[in-house]
Amino acid sequence: MSQTFQIPIPPAGQSPLVFPNRCVCCGAPKQAESTLLINRLVTRGEQQVPVSLTYQVPHCERCARSTKAVFLAGCIPFVLGVLLVGGLTFFAVTYGAIIWRLDEYGQPNNTNSLVLGAAAGLVAGLVAGFLFEAAARVLLLPLFGKALFRAPLLAAQFFTDADYVAGLTARPDRAALLLQLTFANDEIGREFRTLNNY
Ligand SMILES: [Zn+2]
Repeated sequence: MSQTFQIPIPPAGQSPLVFPNRCVCCGAPKQAESTLLINRLVTRGEQQVPVSLTYQVPHCERCARSTKAVFLAGCIPFVLGVLLVGGLTFFAVTYGAIIWRLDEYGQPNNTNSLVLGAAAGLVAGLVAGFLFEAAARVLLLPLFGKALFRAPLLAAQFFTDADYVAGLTARPDRAALLLQLTFANDEIGREFRTLNNY
């Protein structure tokens, strides 16, 4: 059973969040740490402020390795999809637009072809990145097993605004004052709440 709750994010300078001294995923003794990195542009009052939160999350050797592997297994195909398909689409559409003399419309020195190519490349690249990552996940599933299955897709993390390490998902609210944490292991979740007096 997983456990989800929201805690106030300790302001800079105050004692940070404390994690139990064992793996957040499987509960084995702590052997390593994985970095949970949350970067956001948040709205506070009238201003947009960049917020960067870093937490060292205790893991056992195995879960730390699987966190890295799962990240790479998602990241590499995603980036490849974006670069390859996005790049090719950009060149194809820009070239096509030049052949169709799109740049002769509107103001002189217009670069309609480049704008159109960039837009098409961006959309095609993101879609391809998502598909490549999903395909890699299916191919790699026998190798990684459940760890990969449980991790949200990178593209999905992008849209749900959440960050993930094995056993723990974190999601700040809009102003980054509260943090929603989901512990895959509810026993660790309870220990965490006790340690942080929450
Ligand atoms: Zn573990």
